Amino acid sequence: MGQIDYGQVQRTASDLYVRALKLIPPDVTAAIERALEHETKSGARDILQTILKNVRVALDRNLMVCQDTGIPIYKVKIGSNVSVDGTKLEAAIRAGCADACVTHPFRSSICDPLTRQNRPDSTGDHIPVVDFSFAADLDGIEIRMMPKGSGSENMTWMKMLLPADGVKGVKKFVLDCVLRAGGQGCTPSLIGIGVGGTAELAVKLAKEALFRPIGRPHPDERIAALERELLDAINRSGIGPMGLGGDTTSLGVHIETADTHITMNPVAVNSQCWRSERASAHMYADGRIEFGY
Ligand code: SF4
Repeated sequence: MGQIDYGQVQRTASDLYVRALKLIPPDVTAAIERALEHETKSGARDILQTILKNVRVALDRNLMVCQDTGIPIYKVKIGSNVSVDGTKLEAAIRAGCADACVTHPFRSSICDPLTRQNRPDSTGDHIPVVDFSFAADLDGIEIRMMPKGSGSENMTWMKMLLPADGVKGVKKFVLDCVLRAGGQGCTPSLIGIGVGGTAELAVKLAKEALFRPIGRPHPDERIAALERELLDAINRSGIGPMGLGGDTTSLGVHIETADTHITMNPVAVNSQCWRSERASAHMYADGRIEFGY
């Protein structure tokens, strides 16, 4: 049984925050480049080219891609071949998050929800958001990180539809939300959708959908077909990059589902902005570590 090095977890949590803010995943850059190839409106092409230049400049100068440090979210998956003290693991992630903010330094975007008093280090009550899950076949632990920008997180909706509304009702709700948002949330967006479960599980699934690389369809062909249909409909809206018109409103639609109650039909939409920031690390039980997206 491997032992977790909590100091390494803390350093990794810090590194992930920095990486997510500076390194745009290759699938995101590729999706923007594909969109540019197909975009027919000149204003929209200018914006997509500017976005790609932004990504290059951030990489060349070791800068953040956007000023928003977001709400830090960590998703931790624990394998069965490591011995873990959950309280130490969570404390190490929280400390790593604060380290990144203070030593980099980053702007802390976190505040008290009532007084609006700013917190100094990107942590606060229940922040960072840390989710734990378990996988029998995982060697060690996997940590995924997303600093969710407010512009896109503000574009979040949830509704308890009726079972009689069916898939048609889900489609209508998603399209109504995207049309209402327009260019808010820095389009072209990635649209995460959660269908089923309970109210909070649907929202959680919508967020989980944003961690999937753009261009990787859902493995269930029925759901993958729905993703394609919604993406096509959204891109025919004409909203375009930054809401200024064009063929590219979204880079992808990702759906995750859970079974639900026979009298419920929950659906949630969580938009992600064009930068689709995320980073991951696999910490093997033998101490090796691999970073990814
Ligand atoms: S929505 Fe995204 S790209 Fe827009 S300001 Fe926020 S983090 Fe930056």
